[in-house]
Amino acid sequence: MVKAETTEKKIIPYGRQAITDADIEAVVSTLRSDYLTQGPAIPEFEKKFAGYVGAEYAVALSNGTAALHLCAMALNVKPGSRVITTPITFAASANCVRYCGGEVHFADIDPDTFLLDISKVKALLEKHPAGYFQGIIPVDFAGNAVNLEAFRKLADEHGLWIIEDACHAPGGYFTDSKQAKQKCGNGRFADLAIFSFHPVKHIATGEGGMITTNNKALYEKLLLLRTHGITKDPSMYENSEADVAQGPWYYEMQELGYNYRLTDFQAALGTSQMERADENLERRKLIAKKYDNTFSNTSFIKPLPAEGHAYHLYVIQAADRLGLYNHLRANNIFAQVHYVPVHLMPYYKQSGFKKGDFPHAESYYDKCLSIPMYHSLQEADQQRVIDTILDFEKH
Ligand SMILES: *Cc1c(COP(=O)(O)O)cnc(C)c1O
Repeated sequence: MVKAETTEKKIIPYGRQAITDADIEAVVSTLRSDYLTQGPAIPEFEKKFAGYVGAEYAVALSNGTAALHLCAMALNVKPGSRVITTPITFAASANCVRYCGGEVHFADIDPDTFLLDISKVKALLEKHPAGYFQGIIPVDFAGNAVNLEAFRKLADEHGLWIIEDACHAPGGYFTDSKQAKQKCGNGRFADLAIFSFHPVKHIATGEGGMITTNNKALYEKLLLLRTHGITKDPSMYENSEADVAQGPWYYEMQELGYNYRLTDFQAALGTSQMERADENLERRKLIAKKYDNTFSNTSFIKPLPAEGHAYHLYVIQAADRLGLYNHLRANNIFAQVHYVPVHLMPYYKQSGFKKGDFPHAESYYDKCLSIPMYHSLQEADQQRVIDTILDFEKH
């Protein structure tokens, strides 16, 4: 029996992890060690990651969503708190506010960068009295770094905190007003930044996340919240000396925290993956360059500012998006759509958001398609993606 041609073609996903022998070795040696969790691989990963993004502190967590949740908790989001984010992101960027009972507000994206439009945020802030909003969650969407210097200035004028959702952008940066490169998550402008180590992201640990910050008080609070709000640090104890003197087993639960820990074997995988972070980022940039050059004379792309882009995603704009998606799918190329706008999710529509609220986000969504982008994408496979897209365009 002759198989249909399509089933013989290797599946090319939009993103995927790459695991080396060194990664496997690192995980196995941790499995053979004394600690599967709460051991030395965690601070090692945290230190390496903090160094990579240029932040003082890093806290490893069970996933990026847990990281967002703890950020919102640490910044005291509670019922009545109002927080602004972008509709073009993964739902978790907004959900963390809801976990704490706060209200999510959206501002539209900039149609040229697809990032949260600072002028729209400014307009929203100015429509309300001082103190109405508490924070902003900008997202380095697709790997394109938000100009946090500008956001910091605006946030300071309005007394707001910033959580940078940098899940798409480890290694990415924006160029500040003094022409200095400011790496995503470096803690210079945002109060807290978060990353994810889901397999489609740059660094994979299966599930996993990280918060980076330069704020020591927030850092210590996050450590507490990551482990049930429990401390064994005598200098932090709140109960009486008599209570504390009960014995060396003594500990205190001081806040309502969670178990959001990463395991040691995941951390070991993360540390091992980081050895190739720069090299992998360069590979992503080369893949992007090839797409840029190929599609520069088509309607698929508008020139995006490539400086500092970390290319978690490569998003094209297709007039017949469904047609192209299906054509790629028939050829075993699994493109994806990032994202269905968050304000149009039934959950958020319950808060009164509706179609038409954020026209730039909605028209971006109508055409966007993420084509394969991951550092282990082979040249021949990228060529197959390109040929398949150009073939569709011809018909
Ligand atoms: C992946 C992602 C998250 C959530 O990370 P998980 O580790 O999957 O929980 C949050 N925000 C953005 C923008 C993401 O891409």
